[in-house]
Amino acid sequence: MAKIKTHYEDCDILVVGGGMAGTGAAFEARHWGRDLKIICVEKANIDRSGAVAQGLYAINCYMGMQWDENQPEDHVRYARNDLMGLVREDLGYDMARHVDSTVHMFDEWGLPMMKNEKTGRYLREGKWQIMIHGESYKPIVAEAAKKSADKIYNRIMITHLLMDESKENRVGGAVGFNMRTGDYYVFRAKTVIVAAGGASHIFKPRAVGEGMGRTWYAPWSNGSAYALPIAVGAKMTQMENRIVLTRFKDGYGPVGAYFLHLKTYTQNANGENYEKKWYNQTKEIVGEYIDHHPVPTCLRNHAFIQEVAAGGGPIQMVTTEAFQDPHLETIGWENFLGMTVGQAVVWASQNIDPKYQNPELTTSEPYVMGSHATCSGAWVSGPEDLSPPEYFWGYNRMLTVDGLFGAGDTVGGSAHKFSSGSFTEGRLAAKAAVKYIEDQKAENIKVTDKQCEDFKETIYKPLENYTVGRNEITGGTVSPSYILPIQGLQRLQKIMDEYVGGVGVNYMTNENLLKRGLDLLNILQEDLEHIGAEDYHQLMRAWELKHRALTSQCVAEHTMFREETRWPGYYYRGDYMKLDDENWHCLTLSRRDPKTGKFTMEKVPVYHIVDDEKKKKAS
Ligand SMILES: Cc1cc2nc3c(=O)[nH]c(=O)nc-3n(C[C@H](O)[C@H](O)[C@H](O)COP(=O)(O)OP(=O)(O)OC[C@H]3O[C@@H](n4cnc5c(N)ncnc54)[C@H](O)[C@@H]3O)c2cc1C
Repeated sequence: MAKIKTHYEDCDILVVGGGMAGTGAAFEARHWGRDLKIICVEKANIDRSGAVAQGLYAINCYMGMQWDENQPEDHVRYARNDLMGLVREDLGYDMARHVDSTVHMFDEWGLPMMKNEKTGRYLREGKWQIMIHGESYKPIVAEAAKKSADKIYNRIMITHLLMDESKENRVGGAVGFNMRTGDYYVFRAKTVIVAAGGASHIFKPRAVGEGMGRTWYAPWSNGSAYALPIAVGAKMTQMENRIVLTRFKDGYGPVGAYFLHLKTYTQNANGENYEKKWYNQTKEIVGEYIDHHPVPTCLRNHAFIQEVAAGGGPIQMVTTEAFQDPHLETIGWENFLGMTVGQAVVWASQNIDPKYQNPELTTSEPYVMGSHATCSGAWVSGPEDLSPPEYFWGYNRMLTVDGLFGAGDTVGGSAHKFSSGSFTEGRLAAKAAVKYIEDQKAENIKVTDKQCEDFKETIYKPLENYTVGRNEITGGTVSPSYILPIQGLQRLQKIMDEYVGGVGVNYMTNENLLKRGLDLLNILQEDLEHIGAEDYHQLMRAWELKHRALTSQCVAEHTMFREETRWPGYYYRGDYMKLDDENWHCLTLSRRDPKTGKFTMEKVPVYHIVDDEKKKKAS
């Protein structure tokens, strides 16, 4: 331990994670806080980090208010419908009313936007998406953050939040380590904005063996966004609302542009439209939600999963028609080259030419995130002008811990933000964080050296576990004294898969399974005290796993609390196989007591602040 060098940095605003939300936060913090010291800490390198690292082909959230294409109310209705009625409408509306200004800045900063030749407007691919040549998307937003922040630290993983020792429940910064040098970093901060992405690899992935590491969601998104706040007792919401994606098989290649732009469609192995076959059965579970338009994402998954279970697989995307048009064929391939090169490689390696063969689709393992067609994450305050009292406690996007803010995948309740909405939410959080400092809410924060030294000991313990324990074995990887990160990860994934509703059980769980799963997760937590790390890279893996494990406990607790099947196609509660609006038209909240590690759960009302259009027209 003596060899490990410690660096101290004091700042006003600390941004954890330099992805879409983090870059937005750094940019906006400078706009409002000209004289403030702003630091952004990123686990990878912000030029190519986060879910947008490889680029994107479409910006999935753009209203087009200037042309009256959509208004924020429309987006709230859309997200509410897709999430089966349960979203924080205040947060969604707030994001939607600002998102266009974000996209206009991207345009100004040089992001190549496709234009509709006839109208001169951004080229739409669907109601909400606009098309871009987005390979350079991430470096462009990173540049804005680099020009705004006082300092960007790359290759530092934040492992813990620091807490103020003079006032209860107030944040005081964060600590972590550099994965290349091993140095220990202490960031004492007046406010912290957590923007660390979602969680992949908590459920056993379909891609195992030679495909290990391939996932739909970014493999480096390890749930820090949830574990950091959970560990300090922040409230979380809708953590049961994991997402399952229908994607091209084995490469997880995206299907959105195929459906919307290429107008391809799906069929079962016999060439039938299988979705309508499952209409009545789905109606039995969710009632009139199946008649909503567009059909909610989870319900489309549900038809897919049922069809495969009934022997109708493989499900295919019919590309052989669209790909006869050379222009569409080019777009089909470019769509992957701009954001999921791996899918093109998988097709090439399996002799699949989509011009002559309809490629297979599959449903992915579940992921936890807050910005896609799902809304797991932290429970945050909404904006002053929109939020009902239960949703507002002073500062927009502040968690239930003072001075701790969130954005993007971190924030729960507000689905369908995507890249542009996450950047926008980062901006909103940063603006509020500046106000919090200006209002002198962050005075006299006390973070003692002892707190920092204690964390240092905890963080590097896996290195010590390994160094001491490895002398007990002469070869191999199985030790009586430690488990390695990969072993712990596979154990976690197996527990989550088998007990909390992964692919291995066709997304099915129930109270008995969840109870057992929670027992096993507790035992895993005990064993993670004995995790061993061979080097700094493995130390990162060890901490990624610890964050994943804590996130998983929270997911399992939430899944047990909600006694209904709200999102068939994402997961099923076999003991409550119906959607139950009477008892569960509400949001779920959890809080983990940092001292005891016990979770408490509660229900909170869902406030519908935007009218239902049909009802509005009728009145
Ligand atoms: C496969 C895929 C396809 C998508 N396609 C589209 C699309 O076509 N259009 C669209 O608009 N949106 C798309 N999205 C959504 C979009 O990418 C996300 O909404 C957005 O990136 C979320 O922003 P974020 O900042 O919350 O997370 P991210 O952008 O993922 O950023 C999180 C950052 O935190 C860092 N980090 C994590 N843990 C730590 C830690 N402990 N310490 C320090 N740093 C840490 C990560 O390295 C990362 O840089 C897609 C997402 C995925 C996964």
